[in-house]
Amino acid sequence: MTHKTVVLYPSLGVGHLNPMVELAKVFLRRGLAVLIAVVDSPDKDSVSADALARLAAANPDIAFRLLPVPSCGTHKHHPNPVMRTIGVLRVANPVLLDFLRATPDVDALVLDMFCTDALDVAAELDVPAYIFFPSALGDLAIMLNLPYYYPTAPSSFKDMPETLLHFPGVPPIRALDMVTSLQERGSDIAEARLSQCARMMEARGILVNTFTSLEERALKALSSGLCTPGRSAPPVRCIGPLVLPGNTGGISERHACIEWLDTQPDRSVVFLSFGSLGRFSTAQLGEIARGLESSGQRFLWVVRNPPEHRSSSVEPDLEALLPEGFLERTRERSFVVTNWAPQSEVLRHQSIGVFVTHCGWNSALEGIASGVPMICWPLYAEQRMNKVHMVEEMKVGVVVEGYEEGLVKAEEVEAKVRLVMASGDGEEIRQRLLTAKEMAMDALKEGGSSDVAFAEFLTDLQNRTCASKR
Ligand code: UDP
Repeated sequence: MTHKTVVLYPSLGVGHLNPMVELAKVFLRRGLAVLIAVVDSPDKDSVSADALARLAAANPDIAFRLLPVPSCGTHKHHPNPVMRTIGVLRVANPVLLDFLRATPDVDALVLDMFCTDALDVAAELDVPAYIFFPSALGDLAIMLNLPYYYPTAPSSFKDMPETLLHFPGVPPIRALDMVTSLQERGSDIAEARLSQCARMMEARGILVNTFTSLEERALKALSSGLCTPGRSAPPVRCIGPLVLPGNTGGISERHACIEWLDTQPDRSVVFLSFGSLGRFSTAQLGEIARGLESSGQRFLWVVRNPPEHRSSSVEPDLEALLPEGFLERTRERSFVVTNWAPQSEVLRHQSIGVFVTHCGWNSALEGIASGVPMICWPLYAEQRMNKVHMVEEMKVGVVVEGYEEGLVKAEEVEAKVRLVMASGDGEEIRQRLLTAKEMAMDALKEGGSSDVAFAEFLTDLQNRTCASKR
């Protein structure tokens, strides 16, 4: 194969950048040069310059370029983080164009699902563009169908919360479990997201961070045209699971929580971690603490300040945030980490028995790739949809009651922890996870479904490049 350079263009935030870095490694293994163009955004939800520098240091074979976005524009102050992201990416388009013009031999662009505006840049330069979809294939099936479905829905999703919606390839889904940004029909954000859904059809192909045997039904619906009636979707290729390796970030020392896990019995620890942005009110933290205490189980818990402390960089004051005496009473069987844990490494540890997760797709895949049963507690974005796939389709976890109302009670936390850790139903889920873990490894092996799908994508890229150079 001729030497190629592929430019990867992630959306803002750790949950989008991390899987792009893992994708970059796949390109490298196949002998392609790869460059990740990262929009330099001051938004508080974006990856910090320090974190990016660490990532670059840990991955010296990958070229990272920061694209500075102009500081003008109303997007900066939009109260909604998704609208801020969309605004920043829009302002970044001309910067990306200039950057690509100045970069020799770019053979393809791989755009995060939020970066569909950059399809215009690809068209202007006549570079083939592919979408990288870092969420579940079930979400893609829904999102490609939404431009058809949305106009015919009887009302805004928020006004019919319990109505079951039927999309091809996925279980029925309550309107309240649809992605947050699409809840209000006609809102700026819903319109912007719908346009992104529709524009994915313009890509030359869609790479999805999942594997075929995990989401067979969704793949069938997509490839048989059920999701996009009257039109063929671009080829959809499942190339995952691309998850962070156990030891990341170039940190050579082991995190203290890993040392603690080493001293715990196999499959005995409840691990609670809620993505890069998840935060709870003090009341909810109290309920979780009481539930964990009365469950009697060992636990490792990542605790952050409540949302109202958000702008402050102050370390959480655990004594003040958690119920009085809780830390002392559970000291023998718990480890509380503030703000950030090496999640992927934790999940691979043999002492982890269950993962309480917000259902971000990276977290879900990390749980699956580690064979750990999950307790699903969706918080924002598309996590409620992921919860439906995880609980009803893949059956890799159970859901906590009360997430819809914004407060999960201590008794519910205790009940679900006990169910997974100490019941026949929990054992059944564990066995299913062990199978899913095997299937994930098989997909990535040479000749496995994800390996083959990636090779097919490269053949397509090669054909396109040869055709355009003729
Ligand atoms: N993560 C981590 N430590 C934490 C919280 C999150 O390493 O304390 C990582 C996690 O392993 C995952 C990513 O951050 O790779 C979060 O991505 P996900 O899609 O699960 O959720 P998001 O943050 O996008 O909502």
